[in-house]
Amino acid sequence: MNNVKVSIEKTRGGLKKAVAKAIQDAGCHDTISTGDSVLIKPNLNGCSIKGSTSVPLIKAIAQVSYDMGAKKVIIGEGPVKVGKERLQKYFRKMGIQETTKEVGASFVNFDDYEHVIHESVSQDLPEKIGISKYIYEVDRIINVPMLKVHPSTVVTFSMKNLKGCTRPQDKIKFHRLDLQKAIVELNKLVRPHINIIDGIKAMQGTDHNGGDIVDLGLIFCSKDIVAVDSVASYTIGIQPETIRLIKLGNEAGLGESDLSKIDITGEDLESNRRRFELPEEAMARRFPDLRILKEGACSACLANLMDALGWAGGLRNFGTIVLGKDKPDVDDAILIGNCTRKYWAEYTHVKGCPPTSMEIANALSKNSLSGTIFVDD
Ligand code: SF4
Repeated sequence: MNNVKVSIEKTRGGLKKAVAKAIQDAGCHDTISTGDSVLIKPNLNGCSIKGSTSVPLIKAIAQVSYDMGAKKVIIGEGPVKVGKERLQKYFRKMGIQETTKEVGASFVNFDDYEHVIHESVSQDLPEKIGISKYIYEVDRIINVPMLKVHPSTVVTFSMKNLKGCTRPQDKIKFHRLDLQKAIVELNKLVRPHINIIDGIKAMQGTDHNGGDIVDLGLIFCSKDIVAVDSVASYTIGIQPETIRLIKLGNEAGLGESDLSKIDITGEDLESNRRRFELPEEAMARRFPDLRILKEGACSACLANLMDALGWAGGLRNFGTIVLGKDKPDVDDAILIGNCTRKYWAEYTHVKGCPPTSMEIANALSKNSLSGTIFVDD
């Protein structure tokens, strides 16, 4: 018997029932006390509806929180900065405000309120980092990421979902630092009491916003943020110790990554395993002619390139893409980001540190893209 528990539940028999059982099986049933205020932190990124936490799941978690004694439930997120109009459209399509009201909770965009500033916490974090005041004002935090693959961190589950608690400028800075180390340091500052991974409709393939949906029909729950991410990784065919973020999280003492030391309850782990396609595999399959030279490129440029390829991959006019410190070695290469500036005189290039996904997509397709391509219809 281990101290660390992770539960796996099927959701087909009803979401509220599955959430209550997942919480019970993971030993989280006594986490919320009568009168507690609870913050639910989903992934409502503002960019992709199919890449967001399921709103019915958020609703079920709010209902179960009330059943456990919560007096007040807040659903909060700091989405990607996509512009006010686009964000409102995204929230409307998600139906988050109506659902929140229906269940008697409130919805907040963290960026509309104060952040608590931390200074000089770690060399792996921005010098100043702001974390939503709601993290400090509530009694309990329930972290609810969606289960997705990711071009920079391989997977994006519970540990990475906490980036949404930071200010917009911090989110950008994270991508210019060592992203995984920065996330680990952030996880020392923000400690959710329960983590529930939404693997109902999970995402594999090219990236975390535009990949392919996999009907997994599962949720994963634990108090231990590293353990729940490790079990979810194993479920989609990746050994947790091979994921740097999980390894660093375990080494930093944030939780358990060794599956032999975790009690896995609920559904059987082995019979629910399914190998997910990872972003690099999906890109190689979709665009077999594509070469990416990326020595020394940071995750900001890589993540925006992956987004851009999702939009412009089929309309792309270049076979070789160069980022970071690599030297272009063919005539028809396109160079991305300010790090490539010493070769700009001879090549098509996209300025910026990092350039936006839209700028890259337009350059790849020689400006044939336009419009609002962030939000799914
Ligand atoms: S231009 Fe260079 S430093 Fe800036 S985000 Fe891209 S790879 Fe990183």
